Amino acid sequence: MKSLFLFSIFILFAFIMFTYVDIQDPQHGEQQVMAEDIVSSDEELHPYVKEQKEALIERADDIGITVVITDGYRSSEEQDELYAQGRTTSGEVVTNAEGGESYHNYGLAVDFAIENEDGELIWDIEYDGTGSGEPDWLEVADIAEELGFDWGGHWNDYPHLQMDFGLSVEELQEAKRH
Ligand SMILES: [Zn+2]
Repeated sequence: MKSLFLFSIFILFAFIMFTYVDIQDPQHGEQQVMAEDIVSSDEELHPYVKEQKEALIERADDIGITVVITDGYRSSEEQDELYAQGRTTSGEVVTNAEGGESYHNYGLAVDFAIENEDGELIWDIEYDGTGSGEPDWLEVADIAEELGFDWGGHWNDYPHLQMDFGLSVEELQEAKRH
């Protein structure tokens, strides 16, 4: 009788472990996403990216930094217009990506700026409004990376954050064609 009891406990334990392991994300929190799902989604930020963007704003706010998202989803046409800027239209060159070549076009990227103490939007990556000794911009980038974003600062696109789910732009373009 006692062994039957122990056996039942074992089965229960095994069941709980199995369930627990099963609900764990296979990729350390980053969702597994198919290119097809992304290109067929609505013309807005991917829901998971949106969620992490909101978490970023909240966590930055917790340490006294106001993050403002200046851009998110861009249609292919909007991207082409942006690409033309500084090339065939007036203004400075702001992107090297044409329509369909940017993660923004798939709802997987956002651009941010921060607000200084006067409530002005700034792009000064050395500004240390919190007086922490580390520029606010880099503190935001650190939080973003903890949340799973890749920070564009690694390739000189300081306001840019993207989440590619392991998919290249080529794979996304390919999925869109089908
Ligand atoms: Zn960007």
